[in-house]
Amino acid sequence: MSGITLALSKGRIFEETLPLLAAAGIVPTDNPESSRKLIIGTNRPDVRLVIVRATDTPTYVQHGAADLGIAGKDVLLEHGSEGLYQPLDLNIAKCRMSVAVRAGFDYQDAVRRGARIRVATKYTTVARDHFAAKGVHVDLIKLYGSMELAPLVGLADAIVDLVSTGGTLRANNLHEVEEIMPISSRLIVNQASLKLKRELLQPVIEAFAGAIKP
Ligand code: ATP
Ligand code: MG
Repeated sequence: MSGITLALSKGRIFEETLPLLAAAGIVPTDNPESSRKLIIGTNRPDVRLVIVRATDTPTYVQHGAADLGIAGKDVLLEHGSEGLYQPLDLNIAKCRMSVAVRAGFDYQDAVRRGARIRVATKYTTVARDHFAAKGVHVDLIKLYGSMELAPLVGLADAIVDLVSTGGTLRANNLHEVEEIMPISSRLIVNQASLKLKRELLQPVIEAFAGAIKP
């Protein structure tokens, strides 16, 4: 494609990206929440959006199927960022990666005495690195969703998951016991596209940079 393709996921990333797109003079012609289209045009004939699953965004950009994309730091850490240029932290879709346990589970004690702990998570790379750095032995259980259930039914002692308000944890009688890192979404750019389409991409990157809210 001679124009540029931007990969976005539905939901909060799409919503929070709209003002950044507007700053770059880009207005989508459909709303992916109501449209079933996966390729969405914009007011600019040389810019289109592709709607992908959040965890797939780096894959599309890495392979050049999209020239740029917006992905959470959580997704980038799990996926790896080889071949991706990451020029901007967009400061959107903010939350934190945390450890949470069932009410009554003594996390500090479990971690201190160096016992094995069972951790259920979608984020096995982040969790493995975090507990290795603390010298804690973990048995990791990979899940794809509803992590909060695992400690309640005895599948795990703890979970590693994204937390924003803490409402889901509270509703399930879980306690956030440690923050691993703050999370926000990044602009990612295909490295070959950046060289071949610099005159199209550079103004978009600069407009995004100028529109980031602190
Ligand atoms: P799905 O919810 O459809 O299973 P997903 O969880 O991969 O998909 P989203 O929930 O849209 O996708 O999350 C996209 C990104 O937004 C995540 O990768 C993360 O960076 C960020 N995010 C996730 N949960 C929250 C939250 N509660 N508050 C703010 N940002 C979040
Ligand atoms: Mg989600």
